[in-house]
Amino acid sequence: MMQSRRHFVRSALAATAATSPAARLWAEAASGVIPASLIGITGDGKHVTLAGADIKDLRAALKGHLLLSGDAGYDRARRIWNPDFDRHPALVARCAVPEDAVHAVSFARAHHLLVAVRSGGHSFAGYSTCDGGLMIDLLPMQSVEVDAQKKLVRVQGGSLLGQVDRATQAVGLATTMGTATDTGVGGLTTGGGVGRLMGKFGLAIDNLQSVEVATADGRLLHASESENPDLFWAIRGGGGNFGVVTTFEFRLHPFTSKVLSGTLVYPFESAGDVFAAVSEIAQHAPDELGGFGLAIVLDNKSPAEKTSGRTVVFAVDYVGDPAAGEKLLAPIRKLGKPLADTVAAMSYLQAQGASQSAATAVIPAGSVNEYEKSGFMQRPAAGYFEEMRRHFKDLSPAEDYSLTIAWMGGAVARVAPSATAYWNRRATHTMLLGSSWTDPARRDHAIQIARDMWGSVERFTQGYYVNASSEAADPRIRATYGENYPRLVQIKNKYDPGNLFRLNANIKPDSAAG
Ligand code: FAD
Repeated sequence: MMQSRRHFVRSALAATAATSPAARLWAEAASGVIPASLIGITGDGKHVTLAGADIKDLRAALKGHLLLSGDAGYDRARRIWNPDFDRHPALVARCAVPEDAVHAVSFARAHHLLVAVRSGGHSFAGYSTCDGGLMIDLLPMQSVEVDAQKKLVRVQGGSLLGQVDRATQAVGLATTMGTATDTGVGGLTTGGGVGRLMGKFGLAIDNLQSVEVATADGRLLHASESENPDLFWAIRGGGGNFGVVTTFEFRLHPFTSKVLSGTLVYPFESAGDVFAAVSEIAQHAPDELGGFGLAIVLDNKSPAEKTSGRTVVFAVDYVGDPAAGEKLLAPIRKLGKPLADTVAAMSYLQAQGASQSAATAVIPAGSVNEYEKSGFMQRPAAGYFEEMRRHFKDLSPAEDYSLTIAWMGGAVARVAPSATAYWNRRATHTMLLGSSWTDPARRDHAIQIARDMWGSVERFTQGYYVNASSEAADPRIRATYGENYPRLVQIKNKYDPGNLFRLNANIKPDSAAG
């Protein structure tokens, strides 16, 4: 997590994962041709026989490619950002056009096949891949069309954030996207979408004008405030529960300002002082800082240049006049010279890591395994910071854990919790706890330590960010959606009564509720 947290809040600084016998079956069926039949896995985890003739029909119907184990490109397509999820879908439908997603959905429904929807592949819970099911891969569908006059951008479902940032900034416009250029617009937006601009412009979903969705019954629907408004409401924060979004249309805002972005790194012993100083800044934070613009990171292994060992990091993003931003930092500047200081004025694209022509991931996909937990807090809870400091002091320096506390607020909090499915509008803070490892032998230990630490602070939280949990079936789903939950179930009953789209923070339809 340490590294993904870097992306989440400050790119300026710098179910089971073990391969099951079934997974090996698909991995080894390396024929490259369609067999007479293939064993797949249903949404309920049972085996299902797929006739070769049906698979051939699906392949023929797609404008994109249908990949089976052994086909060129299968291995690359099945992999996602987090290598902890080394899974082998029976089929990968690489969608070239929205109708491909409809064909894939219809095939999966007809055969009761487990479905994973993949855009940028950044899911912390591994939702976008699966063993034995059908991966609906939107990555080939990448186009970003800006209408500068109408201040709108149309984004195909497989596009990546850096593509949106570059195309919109080219004409002096922007909308809220996350902070890692290679994250998918699809997963980020359907879960809510937090990023540097959210204090000013709200979450990614708050700028959504309309979507085109392939629904479980095999239709391609438009949804907006006036067309299928229930579906539009649910998609804005309800994760991938309601269909495959093939096109997003976002509103844009003029934004040409430089920003102040970077980190100040202090010795771990200063954590209390840093927390107090940042809390003071947060009390008067304008929208330019409000919403992920202020964050503290306890790092067990410092990523910062020129430092080593455990540190406390202050990460700042002021999305306005850098001189005005610098003035706001007075309380933290009073703490004296930090171990490292990367805070500087830069273009928004530079802060986003999107200034190069191609998407440049600071952390290349597949390079680090991560386990992540998150939680919203409705008020600064005395005690949680102390609790975490105590845990961090006991950690071995050889291990890689980080805790991020980010201040929320700004435009996000001015939207009513019931206006979209995303309910946690009033959260004052969000916490992210992560654990990373490269040696597979450390996996279970790294996850257990993170779970134990989380266990001691979860009581301070209410619900979590559905885009930031590695628990595939996180029991906090009701707390996350609060009073919106019953309405989400009704909409799930209407659009996906069979729970075809279940690899997500799953809102179970009544038919599946236990
Ligand atoms: P995928 O793994 O492709 O998809 C994840 C799930 O999202 C899918 O299984 C499906 O349920 C759903 N989904 C994806 N595409 C669609 C679609 N087109 N239609 C319907 N459902 C879909 N989040 C933030 O908000 N802000 C950040 O700054 C941020 N930084 C991150 C940095 C890193 C390095 C990582 C790993 C994650 C970060 N995240 C951030 C979390 C990120 O938003 C989620 O992981 C999100 O799910 C990624 O979207 P994706 O399309 O890349 O993922």
